[in-house]
Amino acid sequence: MTRPSLPGHPHFIYRDDELVVENVRLRDVAAAHGTPLFVYSKAAMLSALAAYQRGFAGRHAQICYAMKANSSLGVLQVFARAGCGFDIVSGGELSRVLAAGGEPGKIIFSGVGKTRTEMRQALAAGIGCFNVESEAELDVLSEVALALKLRAPVSIRVNPNVDPKTHPYISTGLKDNKFGVAHEDALRIYQHAASLKGLRVVGIDCHIGSQITDTTPYLDAMDRVLDLVAAIEGAGIPLEHIDFGGGLGINYNNDTPPEADALWQQLLAKIDARGYQNKKLMIEPGRSLVGNAGVCLTEVLYVKPGEHKNFCIVDAAMNDLPRPAMYQAFHAIVPLSKPGDDAAKVTYDVVGPVCESGDWIGRDRALAVAPGDQLAVMSAGAYCMSMASNYNTRGRAAELLVDGDKVHLIRQRETVDDQIRQEQLVAG
Ligand code: PLP
Repeated sequence: MTRPSLPGHPHFIYRDDELVVENVRLRDVAAAHGTPLFVYSKAAMLSALAAYQRGFAGRHAQICYAMKANSSLGVLQVFARAGCGFDIVSGGELSRVLAAGGEPGKIIFSGVGKTRTEMRQALAAGIGCFNVESEAELDVLSEVALALKLRAPVSIRVNPNVDPKTHPYISTGLKDNKFGVAHEDALRIYQHAASLKGLRVVGIDCHIGSQITDTTPYLDAMDRVLDLVAAIEGAGIPLEHIDFGGGLGINYNNDTPPEADALWQQLLAKIDARGYQNKKLMIEPGRSLVGNAGVCLTEVLYVKPGEHKNFCIVDAAMNDLPRPAMYQAFHAIVPLSKPGDDAAKVTYDVVGPVCESGDWIGRDRALAVAPGDQLAVMSAGAYCMSMASNYNTRGRAAELLVDGDKVHLIRQRETVDDQIRQEQLVAG
């Protein structure tokens, strides 16, 4: 018997009470590869991408996947093959995306602290654009480009000072955030950029935050950016593209973000109303392309009843799934094999083995579990593996990419030898 898919996860369904992704039973891959284990659905990624592609149909637009959300090579390859560009924030990400087959000309380089070495690496690769975040960075980039006898294509990240109404750690477009240049300084800084011999001004960009579920901040930010486009072009500096960043939220816990195509219908209307329909559009979505395409499978090690709290101790931890510890984030947790309807549920805090009270994955979850049972931590495609660490000398999990009934191992489980390879004892 097939039951409807899990809310927000159209590619994950229960079939005969077993959780299945595409045509693959998750219990089988957990048995074959062990846990903790990340499993991604290629169809889910492509269907999230398709929502943006529908939104931009007939437009000159470039979707640059913000690879910080999940930078595993097998994931990057899916987006590179689908024609995406990439938003990168380090020389390391540049190397990854080139290794995965990304086209250099479709890469944009964001981030407040690019080093000269990273600038040289990106110029040599021939990336599409540097999203510059300060006046000082403009000067350094111009100098680095001139030394290579090049002109760096630049866009300046403008801080529109709108509140994205999300967690403070993932708000980036407010005055007091470290990102971008202030709206009121932008015109002057553009004039400075246009005067630098090593730069070629090509665009404008903004990114106001992440996990945004409300349309209003986007509409407000677009108005503020379009005001600047008019002012900058009015000052004789033509802009080829408008890059509106990423940030669209996903459904973690009954969240109701707009669909990408519906959101863009409203944003495109604003662009058209100002007469900019021929400008190239760029966006940098991360979470909304991969977040609900991935799960982390974990096994229950122990259940530990307590006076005030019961703990369900699993083999995944904050080093695999850092979002709850970092942002008090919610991930749904469901069984791989559904217990019978009459199975007694107990309320647990689901926690990992790491020696931190912050090592929790879900709080107050009603589960019917026993040691050896397996669970899926949902919505684990974004900002999990890419933020994973080796804390407590835990190896990072393996990763699988499911495509129909095919299962591809895209990352082997990290061993302790992998972890200590770069280290050495002091001689003598
Ligand atoms: N672009 C920039 C500059 C970012 O800083 C981020 C995330 O922090 C993104 C794009 C991707 O955001 P999201 O994953 O919320 O779409």
